[in-house]
Amino acid sequence: MYNEINNNQLKREVGDIIMRNKHILEDLKGQLLELWIVINNSNNKNGSEYYKQFEKLLFNHFQVASFHYYIVDHDTVFTIAQDDSKLTPYSFQLLELMPFIHQRHIHPNPLLGKFKALHPDINEIITIEDKQQQKIVGFLMFESTSAWDEFASTQYLDELINILFETVQLSKSRIIDTDDNKINAELLELTELFHSTMDIERILDAVILGTSKSFPTLEHNLILSNDQERKPNIKVHVFDYLNERKSTIEAFVSGDLVIENAEDLQRTILSAPIRGRQGTYGVIQLIASQRYLFTEKDKKLVTFLGNTSGNALENAKLYHQSHRLVGDLQLINESSHRLNMNLSQQEMLVYLSNLLNQSFLPSESAFVFFEDSGAELKIGTSAYFYKKEAQLYLDYVKNHFTKTSDPLFIADFQELIGGSSKYASMMVIPIVIREKVFGYALVVHENSYYFSFDSFKLMQSIIRHSSLAISNVILREQLQEMVDRDQLTKLYARHYLGSFVEQSVGKDDSGVFALIDIDNFKLVNDQFGHLEGDRVLENVAAVIVGGAGSNAISARWGGEELAVYFRNTPLAEAVAIADAIRQAIERLPSPSVTVSVGVSSWSKNNDANYKTIFKEADSAMYFAKRNGKNQVQIYDVKMVETET
Ligand code: GH3
Ligand code: MG
Ligand code: MG
Repeated sequence: MYNEINNNQLKREVGDIIMRNKHILEDLKGQLLELWIVINNSNNKNGSEYYKQFEKLLFNHFQVASFHYYIVDHDTVFTIAQDDSKLTPYSFQLLELMPFIHQRHIHPNPLLGKFKALHPDINEIITIEDKQQQKIVGFLMFESTSAWDEFASTQYLDELINILFETVQLSKSRIIDTDDNKINAELLELTELFHSTMDIERILDAVILGTSKSFPTLEHNLILSNDQERKPNIKVHVFDYLNERKSTIEAFVSGDLVIENAEDLQRTILSAPIRGRQGTYGVIQLIASQRYLFTEKDKKLVTFLGNTSGNALENAKLYHQSHRLVGDLQLINESSHRLNMNLSQQEMLVYLSNLLNQSFLPSESAFVFFEDSGAELKIGTSAYFYKKEAQLYLDYVKNHFTKTSDPLFIADFQELIGGSSKYASMMVIPIVIREKVFGYALVVHENSYYFSFDSFKLMQSIIRHSSLAISNVILREQLQEMVDRDQLTKLYARHYLGSFVEQSVGKDDSGVFALIDIDNFKLVNDQFGHLEGDRVLENVAAVIVGGAGSNAISARWGGEELAVYFRNTPLAEAVAIADAIRQAIERLPSPSVTVSVGVSSWSKNNDANYKTIFKEADSAMYFAKRNGKNQVQIYDVKMVETET
């Protein structure tokens, strides 16, 4: 009897519960329907709106206060946050959750454990599943209430979950599709720009902008190989084989996307190659927190960016290359032409040095020839290389050319020598004459990786094309030197000094000519022999060169007659020098000789003629002989009268 009453009461209570929750379900259905309408009509595309609607619903019916909403897209679980308009991937992927999802009917739900760290208060997880496709589409999780527990014990739970599935699907399509649409529109714009420009700078700027728009929450880097001509760009890093992370190099070399868990930086780093059809030009790098999981969508997006920008860069590169080739050819052609125009060695080196400076914009440049006296710095070499500190580079290059005749292309000199140096980038091209390294042209710059490989190739072409011209001019100058100099005394030959004086009379203000004849030289030959006579001549010549100074030039006038010409020098000064020379010769060791010197001079005021100058010096010299030898005589018109 008592049991019957209890039984009846229980039945009534169960009936009440069922009725109450049936009402709740119907209420919920109505409100979810309204939500659908809101979703469909809403322009609001961010997830937080749907989050708020769900939260309100659960609070109104079950007093649920703490609620979390996740959606699943492909393999990735995204948090729909209360105040965040952007999708943030959850720290692990769906695959990891699957074993727990399969066991979700066990109590307590093992899936709770996976979210416990993030949401310690939750004790209920509703897995929203697309039953037809057998796919998880989302999770709702919250701290359950007695109202919820009661509802969950009824048959209406499954029905609610079915309706929730439709709602989640709908919200998901709104959130993800609009997100995709926005990015797609931006990518389309980017692609159009890539196709419309050959300007490498613009392409690089667009890649950087595209990356930051596609991944606004991540840090990013653009790392480029340095084989392209471009202005230094602070936002672009130059690929550094020696210091780059292994994963970056791997992406660059393999052309595949690489993700590295960088424990040392506590970051996850994604490296996507910038790839064209002919090669890889760099890497787009995305840097995220260690918890961050790169989704399939992220990977597709960054791969797309890498490929489209790679193709655009490649096209621009090829375009510029073809233009540059034409430009380079013109340059080489013109320089060859100029170099073959009978320039002197000096003119040639000045021309080449200007050409290198204009073409490669180095900080310093040098021309060095290996001569008998050692490595000689030539004209066109910047002042820096005459300093002690520059010896570091010159020694390095000299040592290099003792081993090989290959050119040098150095991107980071400091790295190479393992020490500090002012200049990091260096290009050195040998000047090869008859298969021997005769010298080299060198350019340097402070920045590492400053010179492009194309510049290196161009500099090689320029120097190779000018080597023959340089060799010709050197040979010509050597021959000329042979013709212009006397072999025994190494003084200038008579014809050289003759035309020098002739030119001086045309352009200078004044000049003094001194003719020096060795006294009784025949006797020296007779007593000591002709060879000893030659040695005396050499010694006398050396005294003359040393005594005459740099403002005068000395020549062998013929036989044992020597001559010195002083340009723009007052007569008294020249005579003093001539007499000093005479005295110095007198002091030479045995067989000692003396000299008689005749001096003539000219100045702009009197009607000068170079032939007269020689004749007058000759008269003065003979006067000195007649007057007792070993003396200096200045020409006077009376000297001619006393001649016999
Ligand atoms: P003076 O004081 O009048 O000038 O007497 P000198 O003997 O010097 O004059 P002279 O003109 O009679 O003789 C010049 C000599 O110089 C003749 C020649 O043997 C010698 N001589 C000329 N050139 C050379 C040379 O290259 N080497 C040698 N060893 N002797 C030379
Ligand atoms: Mg003589
Ligand atoms: Mg003589």
